[in-house]
Amino acid sequence: MHQEREVGVLVLGAGLQGVGIALELAERGIATTLIDQDELPLNRASLRNEGKIHLGIIYANDRSMGTAFLQLDGALCFSRILTRWMRGDPTWLAKSTPFHYLVAADSIVTPEALAEHYAAVEERCRARLAEQPELDYLGERPSWLAMPLPPESLAVHFDAESFIGGFETAECAIDTEVMALALRRRVLEEPLITFMPSHEVRAIARSGDQFSVEGDGPQGPWSLRALQVVNAMWEQRLRFDQQLGIPPAGDALHRLKYRVIARLPERMRAAPSATMVLGRFGDVVVRPNGTAYLSWYPSALRGWSHDIQPPQDWEPACRGEVPAPFARQLAKEVLAAIDAWYPGIGECVPLQVDAGVIVAIGRSDVDDAASALHDRSHIGVNTQGGYHSVDSGKLTTAPLFALQTADRIEDVRRAMGGR
Ligand SMILES: Cc1cc2nc3c(=O)[nH]c(=O)nc-3n(C[C@H](O)[C@H](O)[C@H](O)COP(=O)(O)OP(=O)(O)OC[C@H]3O[C@@H](n4cnc5c(N)ncnc54)[C@H](O)[C@@H]3O)c2cc1C
Repeated sequence: MHQEREVGVLVLGAGLQGVGIALELAERGIATTLIDQDELPLNRASLRNEGKIHLGIIYANDRSMGTAFLQLDGALCFSRILTRWMRGDPTWLAKSTPFHYLVAADSIVTPEALAEHYAAVEERCRARLAEQPELDYLGERPSWLAMPLPPESLAVHFDAESFIGGFETAECAIDTEVMALALRRRVLEEPLITFMPSHEVRAIARSGDQFSVEGDGPQGPWSLRALQVVNAMWEQRLRFDQQLGIPPAGDALHRLKYRVIARLPERMRAAPSATMVLGRFGDVVVRPNGTAYLSWYPSALRGWSHDIQPPQDWEPACRGEVPAPFARQLAKEVLAAIDAWYPGIGECVPLQVDAGVIVAIGRSDVDDAASALHDRSHIGVNTQGGYHSVDSGKLTTAPLFALQTADRIEDVRRAMGGR
């Protein structure tokens, strides 16, 4: 066993949430130790997700607007915060073409109700931009968010028979790989961050007014004492909260969802990105490097668990290790299903298949209008003394929550007399 070392702030999990907190604290002159089980930061959900920076328009079935407005708040500060962490270098940002939202015949929300929701989000967005000149959406200040797509425009790219309505939107995704490469470089060169790769956390306990964290690493078992701990371990977050007696806020749900990255046919490289709403459908993200992110829920959702942590056998896919025959079959299914409504996608050449875990609270699936999955407003940082458990909820909100977590850490430091 390594000798037990003492650190000030220990950040567990180097996805966008943990990395963001460490970089934000570095900006404020506070040193952190950042731990991850993988060799590199941003190797899990923050890399293997769709990358949509949510304006809130997808959350039309949370009639309280709580989810939509929280995502909008995250989206409107996302690029400003990332660019500050990157010391002004904007090259972390590679944007997709804007999304078209396509309304399925069996959508759980009607086109009319969707239009109302989009108008409410747009109004809120306009108000936010007017009140706060420093806000932007991925470098722009859009004057509109969604407008109806006439049937003849819908038919230019899509199988019009498959839909009962459509909207052109200002929403975009980012290329998560470009972001991950930039953030990894930044973390590794930041003198106020000590990154400990390949260190798996096994246990957290309180010890007096400190915390003791143990795990396994390349040199065997390790143990650290910390004044403050950030739990940003995403699909393992609830497990470690439980070790400290903090229960989940409801029925924990972990879903394993695969993605296919594929090369687009030349003629589709400027085609719109698309999201089919609202139910168990899918997305196409047209990225600037000629590739697309493809996801089709009925084929790509391969795991469902209410356990406090996901099953061990989901692990390899979340690290990017997927057996080739399985990857080929899954890609074939996803391409065929999407080609039925987005003609041409079937000609894509699959390049990569991997998966991520979606962490949420709920029991029934997204095609149930009453499912708790439609309400994602109960996310963010939960502080108990010097322990901060952060549910990023979405990539979109991780930078916003990083700032809030850094504020709390500073408050606790002040209360401890600056330690
Ligand atoms: C398929 C899919 C699609 C999504 N699409 C979108 C989208 O379009 N837009 C959006 O805004 N959000 C989306 N999300 C959600 C988004 O990806 C997550 O909210 C976000 O990336 C999570 O960031 P994180 O830093 O909390 O977690 P992660 O990026 O997973 O980071 C957690 C880190 O903790 C480490 N870790 C875990 N356990 C341990 C341990 N025991 N010891 C040491 N290290 C550990 C992991 O290795 C990992 O690096 C999607 C998620 C998935 C899975």
